[in-house]
Amino acid sequence: GVAVGRRVSSRRKWGRVIDVLKELEEGCDTPVGRLKQVVDAVAVEMHAGLASEGGSKLRMLLTFVDNLPSGREKGTFYALDLGGTYFRVLRVQLGGQRSSILSHDVERQPIPEHLMTGRTKDLFDFIASVFKQFVEREESGSGYPLDRRRDLGFTFSFPVKQTSVSSGILMKWTKGFAIEDMVGKEVVACLQEAFTRNGLDVRVAALVNDTVGTLALGHYHDADTVAAVIIGTGTNACYVERTDAIIKCQGLLTTSGGMVVNMEWGNFWSSHLPRTSYDVDLDADSPNPNDQGFEKMISGMYLGEIVRRVILRMTLESDIFGPVSSKLSIPFILRTPLMAAMHEDDSPDLTEVERILRDILEVRDVPLKVRKLAVNVCDVVTRRAARLAAAGIVGILKKIGRDGSGGIVSGRSRPDTRMRRTVVAIEGGLYTNYGMFREYLNEAVVEILGEEVAQHVILRETEDGSGIGAALLAASNSSRNVDTVQ
Ligand code: BGC
Ligand code: MG
Repeated sequence: GVAVGRRVSSRRKWGRVIDVLKELEEGCDTPVGRLKQVVDAVAVEMHAGLASEGGSKLRMLLTFVDNLPSGREKGTFYALDLGGTYFRVLRVQLGGQRSSILSHDVERQPIPEHLMTGRTKDLFDFIASVFKQFVEREESGSGYPLDRRRDLGFTFSFPVKQTSVSSGILMKWTKGFAIEDMVGKEVVACLQEAFTRNGLDVRVAALVNDTVGTLALGHYHDADTVAAVIIGTGTNACYVERTDAIIKCQGLLTTSGGMVVNMEWGNFWSSHLPRTSYDVDLDADSPNPNDQGFEKMISGMYLGEIVRRVILRMTLESDIFGPVSSKLSIPFILRTPLMAAMHEDDSPDLTEVERILRDILEVRDVPLKVRKLAVNVCDVVTRRAARLAAAGIVGILKKIGRDGSGGIVSGRSRPDTRMRRTVVAIEGGLYTNYGMFREYLNEAVVEILGEEVAQHVILRETEDGSGIGAALLAASNSSRNVDTVQ
């Protein structure tokens, strides 16, 4: 009869949706063997990027940071942090001893979207005016005069070709920023001009990537910190490299014998990466196709968007979700924090999932099994992202000989390859706020390295390293540095 026929056909439609899920699961599969191939590819590309300019999709950029903060930094320093969802101003008071950050004040503001794609001058005037308001308030509160010169670290989290620790040229934009007239320009000059237009006397003592700020703070707290990773709106890593391994820059001499290298790993690519049709389409529709491939599989800007594309596809395959809503067709409408909220909904009938599907995506029919399906999709996408980031981290450890392959405690014959305590500083909204992501990442690091080696590797969350670390670097590179202040 009619009723039976309808039941059969609805079962068939459900079957089609399950096929989409299965296909996604297969496409996103990251067994440990594959992760190890990614680890090897990361290490190989790191070598290639250090060997010659343009030798790899991994740019391996010099930072000119050759000494991480010693702990002796003292005085009041500022930081501006641009590159994620928020713009932030910080004032940091350093006490002159390791881990003696006396106080720090932060102000953050969402970056108006039109400024991300407008003109250089408008973006930098916005930055300068927020900073000006910050110091004006400070002046009235503490008697710190507005016209007194301030030293600051500028965290500018995009690929920059540095010419010194406090200067560099923007190579390209990422993460939805697209201000064409700025590519190729001196970043600090743009900022300095805006300060002048706003009547501020500021010295930019350090221009740093957010990963480098994070490494600086991580190292300030714990001297065994050798690398830093950001997993937020975008993703990237930096680490300390020996200068003699930076082949593309012959004769690079530093007092420490090392330099921090900004990998720009968001642009990493390898045929071993598990890529699906959703990734291909997302990339093609993005403002930077063929760019930042690793980032597009991992970072906060993109995960929710991948999930949206999968759910849209399921809705097109079958009407068990009701008719396709126009909301579901809007790119980036499912932001990653919402995806995390769905994924981590632990209520028995998934009420949060229901709310988001209904209110944000305007999916009409959301019975429990559809809600469970949506959670499943989030899980697959996040698990892949976290595991790939873990492979990236182990790739760095492999490159610097901290992956245990030189032996763990077999120190007698080859003392230099003994597995030492190794700390990796991590921050970024995705890692910090998305518990499932964090668990998957931590778990995968242990899976790849094996328990015994992993015991020596500590992933340590830093707080506000991208900002505080920039102030620390401003201090260690300032003429007002160490004991000469106040
Ligand atoms: C940028 C990096 C940055 C990372 C995290 C990427 O899109 O290219 O420079 O470190 O995002 O903010
Ligand atoms: Mg940030």
